[in-house]
Amino acid sequence: MTERPSETVLVLGGTSEARALAAELERCGVRAVSSLAGRVTEPRLPTGEVRIGGFGGPEGLAAWLGREGVAAVVDATHPFAERIGASAASASAATGVPLLRLERPGWRAGRGDDWRWVDSLEDAAGMLPALGERVFLTTGRQGLPAFAPVTDVWFLIRCVDRPDPPLPPNAEVLLDRGPYTVDTERTLMRTRGIDVLVTKDSGGRYTEAKLTAARELGCPVVVVRRPRRPVVTTVGTVADALAWVQSVLRHDDGMAR
Ligand code: NAP
Repeated sequence: MTERPSETVLVLGGTSEARALAAELERCGVRAVSSLAGRVTEPRLPTGEVRIGGFGGPEGLAAWLGREGVAAVVDATHPFAERIGASAASASAATGVPLLRLERPGWRAGRGDDWRWVDSLEDAAGMLPALGERVFLTTGRQGLPAFAPVTDVWFLIRCVDRPDPPLPPNAEVLLDRGPYTVDTERTLMRTRGIDVLVTKDSGGRYTEAKLTAARELGCPVVVVRRPRRPVVTTVGTVADALAWVQSVLRHDDGMAR
């Protein structure tokens, strides 16, 4: 078996921030392994070493950290990826491997926005018939069954990979992935006659153009709040995550001497 250097950093990924962090770590000469869940058929791959697939819960992740000699973990997964966040917190507590959460800030409504905050996809689905007739649904493939019982509105469903049933009966599926521009979002929403937008509070620049387009078109937006995650040290930028990794690795190095 090959010996791994003790400064291996595990980046739990699937986001643009995770890819940016992997690139920064590589630039700084730090060995990083990026991990993806394997949900998307053709994922955007980060630079450097990549592993794909679940670890087998918190115990599987803890075993993996030990086996691979991981010195630090950065959980840079999507704000709505709840289970892997809990797994990372629990594996870090069990092994003593330091954990950082890198999470982009959520979106905030501005002047002219008409946003309705809800706690779940089910709540979003329940409020739609009273809000409009033609809904632009951008919450991703996995939560679509929550909208399947909604029969009295038409949906434009946009996601990266073709969704599995059940889907709402009156729907067009558009396969696409960001980043998007305000111009293309405005045109899409106009041509489909969209009168409501549904989104998760994903935050970030990649998919925020739809919010500007909705404001310009006077569309209400149903925004699903982020789920609660375990309380761990958290930063909001790649630069801060890089600084944290460097301080953890320096500390490790000092202890070894
Ligand atoms: P989830 O509910 O937190 O994860 C479900 C299971 O998938 C986890 O228990 C874990 O399996 C595995 N997993 C998740 N992320 C992983 C990773 N980075 N590396 C290895 N295994 C991972 O997550 P999800 O909502 O299905 O999202 C899956 C991935 O897509 C995440 O990595 C996330 O960053 C990305 N993503 C999610 C969304 C979203 O809206 N949820 C949007 C964009 C991107 P084991 O328990 O077997 O380890």
